[in-house]
Amino acid sequence: MKGLFFYTKPYLLSFIVCMVFILPACQAPVEKHSIVKQKKAIIPKPEPPKPAPIPNDSLCIAAVGDIMLGTSYPNNATLPPDSAVNSFNAAKPGLQGADVIFGNLEGSLLDWGDPAHYKLHQKSKAFLFRMPVKYALVLKDAGFNVLSVANNHISDFDIKGRNSTTKTLDSIGINYAGLLIKPSTVFEVNGIKYGFCSFAPNANTVSILDLKGAAAIISQLKQRCDVVIVSFHGGGEGVDFEHVPRAMESYINEKRGDVYAFAHNAIDAGADLIFGNGPHVSRAMELYNKRLIAYSLGNFCTYRCVSVAGVCGLAPLLKVYVNKKGEFLSGRILSFRQAHDKGLERDTLNRAAIKIKTLTQTDFPDSGLIISDEGQLTAGIPEN
Ligand SMILES: [Zn+2]
Repeated sequence: MKGLFFYTKPYLLSFIVCMVFILPACQAPVEKHSIVKQKKAIIPKPEPPKPAPIPNDSLCIAAVGDIMLGTSYPNNATLPPDSAVNSFNAAKPGLQGADVIFGNLEGSLLDWGDPAHYKLHQKSKAFLFRMPVKYALVLKDAGFNVLSVANNHISDFDIKGRNSTTKTLDSIGINYAGLLIKPSTVFEVNGIKYGFCSFAPNANTVSILDLKGAAAIISQLKQRCDVVIVSFHGGGEGVDFEHVPRAMESYINEKRGDVYAFAHNAIDAGADLIFGNGPHVSRAMELYNKRLIAYSLGNFCTYRCVSVAGVCGLAPLLKVYVNKKGEFLSGRILSFRQAHDKGLERDTLNRAAIKIKTLTQTDFPDSGLIISDEGQLTAGIPEN
């Protein structure tokens, strides 16, 4: 036995040494690694900066992009079966409570009449928009109190279409501007005086290409009003035109404006809010001199005749809070989506907000506007 123990002892000793010292040492890195892993897992995701509380006396401006509720041209097959009365049902809770509700009316309010002669002969004009006059009440019911009529469809039915549109909007008390015969408008809500003007590269509208002329209109408005809102219908159209190029854009042989230069010139002249539309897709936002620029709010409520495939179906509703001087306080992008079979719907995946956030990070990383995945807009210094 003694001999057996004598020979076994070294093995036993090395077994004990191995169990006590070596194995734990071998395991140590694994444990270390798992500790590190656990620590990583519990590091909280950096929270987006909390927006400052909105002061009670701030103003809320809501804005959307293109609106075309259905066209009776060439026949009634392109009109919605409900006479458009449910068009904005999904958006009404989001629009409620805003002092100003803005959109771009992409077409005329006209019951009958032939297309403008030159439009019929343009091959690119496959779609001509003539909304029944009674649809204006749908806009009124949703709360719209100012519309842009500066765009490439307001003259689809020439002077007849423009006259019917202005007469209809006048009759129900919706403010509008953007035509050569009506470059700007002034209106009052809750004791605050708003000035509004709108620009486009198209015939009969106030030109987006004339920066000096735009500055003159805007500075005159600012002298008379508390807050000046400017809309433009500019830039290229479609998925290839999501970015703001900071240069003159052309589309189908037409100059569509240098929207960056236009927006900055407008703010230098006294504009407080800039709402772009026209590209049929969303574009970035920017803060400049404490003023918010939304370069394109895309399509919002466009029945059938406008493509809503892919990113064209993203429909942001922008709510901006400003002080009585028009300076940006905070904002929110509410995401909606359009599909031809379902119409306008709230998008719980916030795709419009996330798209605008991504474009803003790419195109204007240093403007100081922070957009969360939920669509919260905050002024601050970006982390990167
Ligand atoms: Zn357009």
